[in-house]
Amino acid sequence: MENIDWSHLSFGYMPTDYNVRCYYRDGKWGEIEVSSSETINIHMAATCLHYGQEAFEGQKAFRCPDGKIRIFRIEDNAARLQSTCRGILMPEVPTELFVEMTKKVIKLNERFVPPYESGAALYIRPLLIGTGAQVGVHPADEYLFLIFVTPVGPYFKGGFATNDYVIIREFDRAAPLGTGTYKVGGNYAASLRANKIAHDAGYSCEFYLDAKEKKYIDECGAANFFGIKNNTYITPKSTSILPSITNRSLQQLALDLGMKVECRQIPEEELATFEEAGACGTAAVISPIARIDDMENHKSYVISKDGKPGPISEKLYTKLRNIQYGIEPDTHNWITVID
Ligand SMILES: *Cc1c(COP(=O)(O)O)cnc(C)c1O
Repeated sequence: MENIDWSHLSFGYMPTDYNVRCYYRDGKWGEIEVSSSETINIHMAATCLHYGQEAFEGQKAFRCPDGKIRIFRIEDNAARLQSTCRGILMPEVPTELFVEMTKKVIKLNERFVPPYESGAALYIRPLLIGTGAQVGVHPADEYLFLIFVTPVGPYFKGGFATNDYVIIREFDRAAPLGTGTYKVGGNYAASLRANKIAHDAGYSCEFYLDAKEKKYIDECGAANFFGIKNNTYITPKSTSILPSITNRSLQQLALDLGMKVECRQIPEEELATFEEAGACGTAAVISPIARIDDMENHKSYVISKDGKPGPISEKLYTKLRNIQYGIEPDTHNWITVID
């Protein structure tokens, strides 16, 4: 792809050659189909359109220094999609089908996997939608599972850097016993207003407290939160947080580094005590936090005094990236090589 400027890609959509699809009909999944069309043709009464029977996932494929393409913890994405399926009554996509379709769509679009030096990656977007027609509120009887890919640019264009966040209390992304633990589009629709308020005020993202008491830390926009103090990695426990695979990996790497890991409720005031903090997810791995403002209470939690990422965040970030790029040994069996 000599005409793509790999190092200046944004996190946007760019057409690629193929996507892969599989239909669920008559109680079973069909054959994998390859499509070169960017559109889908569905019934106007499909449940995904009216009642939000929609789930997605997000992964990345990396071109590595040894020339190979690697993907990260793919079976965990399959398992999380299965959990989402149980949550909103959709048929589970079997792990083998999920993995086979992922490998297939990467290979079919191999020329769109950005070169290692660019820092860019191939973003993988699995999507599961209820396509069967219903007017009453019921789960559909037919579903479409598809995966498309699109190259995306490096998250940190000017190097690993910090961001500022703002606590928003007027809107929740998910209810305490709602769909927050599932990767469904509805949670994103619910987050758009808070996200716009934060962006308009000049922040990188909105910061959520728990929906019930507004006392404990929940999520940072569409990423999990972690704080670091006293050689301990601390991340919130909540019934409305999406279980991030990046967060789980960072917890393991923190243990490997001899740190302690705590998964528990984190009161807002504790923000003042962290030596480092970050948002984590597939997009950035770690997006270090400089400051979190609580405008309503006229408080500002300054986490990084010099505005730079902390040493432990940087260490965890580098370690995870090196495993993803096949530079450091994959001691936890997280990597699948595409061949
Ligand atoms: C996808 C997502 C994350 C990050 O999960 P990863 O598996 O680490 O990419 C965190 N929070 C929300 C709300 C998400 O949708």
